Amino acid sequence: MLNSGAKEKSGVKFSTTKKVIKLVGRAIGDFSLIDDGDRIAVALSGGKDSWSLLYSLLDLRKRAPVNYEICAVTISTNDKDNRLKKMTERLDADGIAYRSIFCDIPSIISNHLSDGSSPCSLCSRIRRGVLYSFASSDGWNKIALGHHMDDFVETLLLNLFFNGSIKCMSPKLAADDGKNVVIRPLVYVREENTAKMAEEMGLPVEACGCIFQTEVDSKRRWVKKLLGQLENEIPNVKNSILSSMGRVFDRHLLKRVAKM
Ligand code: SF4
Repeated sequence: MLNSGAKEKSGVKFSTTKKVIKLVGRAIGDFSLIDDGDRIAVALSGGKDSWSLLYSLLDLRKRAPVNYEICAVTISTNDKDNRLKKMTERLDADGIAYRSIFCDIPSIISNHLSDGSSPCSLCSRIRRGVLYSFASSDGWNKIALGHHMDDFVETLLLNLFFNGSIKCMSPKLAADDGKNVVIRPLVYVREENTAKMAEEMGLPVEACGCIFQTEVDSKRRWVKKLLGQLENEIPNVKNSILSSMGRVFDRHLLKRVAKM
């Protein structure tokens, strides 16, 4: 599935790509993310994470013991979307099925954002809604999102520090509407490696270009920075935190007695 430019560039440089694909395969096995006959819509934003996810799933499908179908789905937020043009050129070149859905998310956010609330959380709710309705109406039973290990770890710490709860994301989650299942196969993949994979494969990564970028959640940025500092002293800290999410000792947590 590599394009010719990427092949020429590659040589032996594809070690990170192989590593990412292996970790995606491991996550699929560990969390039973894919079943025979699945139709998976991969949310493709044009960033490094979603490109890496898409190409990992396509590569794994060649050797998978089950059959599954994949399409890339992109939400376009303006009708002169140059990012979309570059993305579709690559998808066409590699023969990958895709759909593009228009939704003027910036206007919706501008009209509904209340003081102090984060545009990104509203944005992700809107995007999720658009993807859910597309998947339901077009017969895709799973939606694959490009959240990686760093997202999982940061979300856990954000909830721990600011919400007083132990909660992160799930690699596999049935949506409240009962119709959609969200999967996050990059759970074991570090963010830096999606960037390397995208580079190795010559994927046309486009900057987000969102008008709300300067307002991106300052708490998340702070947690990211904190993790960077912690990694200087504890190099394996992100793996350790991620692994802690799967080793919860219920008996050693605060469990209040239900009042009759
Ligand atoms: S930066 Fe913009 S596009 Fe990205 S999540 Fe936030 S609001 Fe949405």
